[in-house]
Amino acid sequence: TNKARIDYLHRFRQLNDKDLTILIDTFSKEDLMYAKSIAMAIKESYYGRDIYIRGLIELTNYCQCNCLYCGIRSGNTKAERYRIMPDEVFKCCEKGYELGFRTFVIQGGEDPWYTDDKLVPMIQKIRNNYPDCAITLSLGERSRTSYEKLYDAGANRYLLRHETGDASHYRKLHSPGQELADRLTHLKILKSIGYQIGTGFMVGSPGQTPESLVKDLSILKELNPEMVGIGPFVPHHESVFKACPPGRVDLTQFMLALIRIMLPSALIPATTSLGTVDVKGREKGVLSGANVIMPNLSPMNVRNKYLLYDNKAYTGSEAAESLENLRKDMELIGHQVVVHRGDFIAIREGS
Ligand code: SAM
Repeated sequence: TNKARIDYLHRFRQLNDKDLTILIDTFSKEDLMYAKSIAMAIKESYYGRDIYIRGLIELTNYCQCNCLYCGIRSGNTKAERYRIMPDEVFKCCEKGYELGFRTFVIQGGEDPWYTDDKLVPMIQKIRNNYPDCAITLSLGERSRTSYEKLYDAGANRYLLRHETGDASHYRKLHSPGQELADRLTHLKILKSIGYQIGTGFMVGSPGQTPESLVKDLSILKELNPEMVGIGPFVPHHESVFKACPPGRVDLTQFMLALIRIMLPSALIPATTSLGTVDVKGREKGVLSGANVIMPNLSPMNVRNKYLLYDNKAYTGSEAAESLENLRKDMELIGHQVVVHRGDFIAIREGS
């Protein structure tokens, strides 16, 4: 039964591909509830009911890639492009620090304008002024030398989703030349440099199957990342996938719970895309085992331009206001937003 499969996964932190495929393909409401209850107990044993917040700064929506699902891909001539200047990034951190953020996530399209010569002093300044904060980068694929320079400047963590664990599916979602194998090599390089790495995938992207989701899980098992970000695919009106349905909320919850069970101490966000397809998405994510939320710290005048998909949630209110709402929403489900760097807890063997 699926209950027995979930129990096996819980006990051994792994399950063979065939049973995982059946589980993902056939889980019922009761199976979801059961997986969530185990995921919540595991999360609490490591992190209690604390929610770590990461201040997201959307550096640039210029991008040299043409990932077919993404609203800011190079081929979208309708996107209104912007860049946040390094001084302004620092101001976002100042504001974020006052609000209680102790991790800043600098994310953007793959924008060659941000050379190492521009990024290094920016990161150094944040590092020197906020030695108690973590600096997370999510700037796509760069060279090994670049990753090293940014690490030496003070960055600690790097987010780079593998998007799908199936190489041919990866090709269908991307443009020629973009390969899953390269993506995985980048993740390994980042890890070897010393970054805490985050990877993950979209749930319900066009062409995804239970089998490809199983491959996603085996990649997570292989890479053993400190952070795992998953969220539903959401269509963008200027993309070839504009008529495709968004990823399912219940499947996203189920995958979140399975990931928490497989990688007990991972840092797992309830993503903005989950909050976009469901008004209670963030709460549902947290109650499925997520323990991180990444509110937006970007300046208001660029908020409505970093549009990876349609109807993106939480674009309208100031950081302080949305943080206050988040605190209340989390309290209502028995969790508390904390002022904390929220580092990865190394797994206790035998636990
Ligand atoms: N350029 C960097 C990169 O590729 O890692 C960071 C920015 S990229 C836009 C961040 C993430 O947005 C991607 O990893 C992808 O999973 C997600 N994303 C893009 N388009 C999406 C969509 N239509 N629906 C849901 N998630 C999407």
